Amino acid sequence: MISTNLLKIQEQIQLAARNSGRSAAEIKLVAVSKKFPHTAILSAYKAGQQFFGENYIQELQQKRKELPENIHFHFIGHLQTNKAKIAAESCSMIETVDRVKLATALHKHLEKLDKNLDILVQVNIGQDSNKSGVAPDRAAELLEDLQPLSRLRIKGLMTIPPYESSPEKTRPHFKNLRVLADKLSARGFFAGIEKIELSMGMSGDFPIAIEEGATIVRVGTAIFGNRPV
Ligand SMILES: *Cc1c(COP(=O)(O)O)cnc(C)c1O
Repeated sequence: MISTNLLKIQEQIQLAARNSGRSAAEIKLVAVSKKFPHTAILSAYKAGQQFFGENYIQELQQKRKELPENIHFHFIGHLQTNKAKIAAESCSMIETVDRVKLATALHKHLEKLDKNLDILVQVNIGQDSNKSGVAPDRAAELLEDLQPLSRLRIKGLMTIPPYESSPEKTRPHFKNLRVLADKLSARGFFAGIEKIELSMGMSGDFPIAIEEGATIVRVGTAIFGNRPV
């Protein structure tokens, strides 16, 4: 049951927060609904879940037509520049901005829509050649380049760490993302942002991510079950 799963996850979030001296109120759960039908989103929404994560623009567009307007979507997949318009229109946050070209396209469409958009910069923290994201040592340069794009509100960093054989092995990657965010913050990036967001942690490792400072966790399987292929 989706509602039971959501309760369980909320409990685990509270426990992990307490274990690390944090408040659960500062941790946002994004329910990753990719490959699940809009009816699954509706069930979770009725159980109180407000934020959902989608990876594919066309799928997101289809589902949004069927759903109440006040359901918020975070885009968490690889975003092609030619899909920036739809993403800018239909998401409350884009978590996967990793290049200037994409950011510029988003900014252009936001200008036309006369709106601002929250984004995260995706960092390839484990330097995994199969993963998107800016290399950690290029993150400052990218943030510098995004400065003039005033429609983008850069809230923090997101990462998908490399696959590890046990959740505990993922901990150093989470820690590295937090350290990177601290360094960037000390250099003056994120000025004026009251809370720097760190989106990290999925079904298998979100409690560890919370212990390492996650403010957004992206959980799919543990809420909706195994994804249909
Ligand atoms: C699919 C996905 C998730 C959720 O993964 P689960 O293991 O099902 O919790 C989280 N983040 C991203 C970027 C994803 O693509």
